[in-house]
Amino acid sequence: MSQEEAAAKDGGGRRRQRNLRSPDVMEEIRQLVERHYRSELVEKAKEQGGILRAGRTTIRLARQFGFCYGVERAIDLAYAARKLFSDRRVYLLGEIIHNPEVNGQLKELGIEMLPTLLRNEDFARIRKEDVVILPAFGAEVKVNERLQQIGCQIVDTTCGDVMSVWKRVRQNSKEGVTTILHGKVGHEETRATASRAVGGGTGHYVVVYDLKEATLVANYIAYGGDANVFLQMFEGKTSKGFHPDRDLKKIGVANQTTMLKRETEEIQNLLRWAIQYRDGGSLANYRAFDTICGATQERQDALFELLKEPPDLMVVVGGYNSSNTTHLVEIAKEKVPTYFIRDSSRILSAERICHFDIGLKVEVEAEKWLPCGEVEIGITAGASCPNNLIEEVILRIFEVRGEGLSF
Ligand code: SF4
Repeated sequence: MSQEEAAAKDGGGRRRQRNLRSPDVMEEIRQLVERHYRSELVEKAKEQGGILRAGRTTIRLARQFGFCYGVERAIDLAYAARKLFSDRRVYLLGEIIHNPEVNGQLKELGIEMLPTLLRNEDFARIRKEDVVILPAFGAEVKVNERLQQIGCQIVDTTCGDVMSVWKRVRQNSKEGVTTILHGKVGHEETRATASRAVGGGTGHYVVVYDLKEATLVANYIAYGGDANVFLQMFEGKTSKGFHPDRDLKKIGVANQTTMLKRETEEIQNLLRWAIQYRDGGSLANYRAFDTICGATQERQDALFELLKEPPDLMVVVGGYNSSNTTHLVEIAKEKVPTYFIRDSSRILSAERICHFDIGLKVEVEAEKWLPCGEVEIGITAGASCPNNLIEEVILRIFEVRGEGLSF
C-alpha cells in the first residue's frame, strides 16, 4: 500500500483501498484546512513583493516563509484520515509538526495525541481497529514494527525529504559506513533517522549537535584518543555497541533536514579533512550527502536576502520546539534585534513583548522592543507556521503602533 492509501470500509462494511489525497477526499477537507490556516492578507502581500506600509510602520516579509510542501501534505493526510475514518479512534504519534496551533486544531477534530516516546501502556491502548498517524518527521523503526504487529491502520505522513535521508543512512549501514548525523539527539526526525542508520543491527551512528561536537569526532579520527572519554562525551548519542576505534574507519555525514545549512557544510568540511589527514589524502573512507531539505534552505536563503538591507528588527513566528524556525532566529540575531514569538498574543503592547530566548529556552519579556517614529520590521516564519498566525502578527503590530492597515 502506498503511503497515501489507506484501507477504509465502505457503506456496506466491505474493506477497500482509498487514496487519502484523492480529489474527492481533498475536496471535502480543503475548505476546513483553508479556514484553519489560510490568510488572504499574506497571499496578497506576497503578490505585491512582501511589503506592507501604514503611517510610519513598514513590514517586510521574507521571500519564502511558512508552510512547506512536506507540512502541507502531512496536514492534508491527517485531516483526510479524520474524515475517512470518522467512525474510528484516530491517534497521532506526538506532534504532526512543531506548531501548537496546528496540533491544537487536530485535537479539536478529535485526534488524540500519543506521547512521542511510546511506552508499553501506550501501545497497549492501541487496538487493531484504530488509526495511528505518524508525523512529518517520521517514526523510529521499532515503533513502526510494534504498530504493524498490532495491525492498526497506519497513516504515514513522513516527508519525502526525510525518507531520502533514510535511504542514504540505510545504504551506509549496508556498506559498513558509520553515519555521523548532524542533528538534535532528542528530535523526532533524528531519532527516526538514527534508527535506520543501524540497518539490521550492524550499522552505527554518532549524533553531533554542532561544530563543537563535530570537532571532537574529527580530532578522534585524525589523532586518536581515549575511547572511554569519547564514549562518555557522546553518551546517549551513539548506536548500541559503538566503539570509536573500530567504527570511525569509514564515515558518511548526513543531517536532520532542518539544520543550519552553513553549519552542516562546516561539519562536512571538518570531517572530510579529518579522514584525509588520517588516510594520507585519500577520501575512500568518506561520504557526504547534502540532506538539508529544499524548503529549509529556501527559507534560510530568503532570510539572508532580506537581511542584506537590515530592517530595524526581526520578528520570527513559529513553534518554540521547531528546529528550522530556531535556525532562522539564529541567522537573524546575528544582524538585528530579533523576537521569536509563537503567535500574536505574545505582542503585549508597543512597549512590551514576550518572546522565546533560544539560549535560555524560556519565554522572556522585553521592554521598548519597538523604536518610536519610523520603523521597518522584517518578518519570517518557519516551515511549520500557518499563514493565519503570520497575518495575526502583522495586524497586531499595526494595531499596537496605532496604525490601520488598509489593504
Ligand atoms: S521542513 Fe523539509 S523535511 Fe521538514 S516537512 Fe518541510 S520539506 Fe519536509
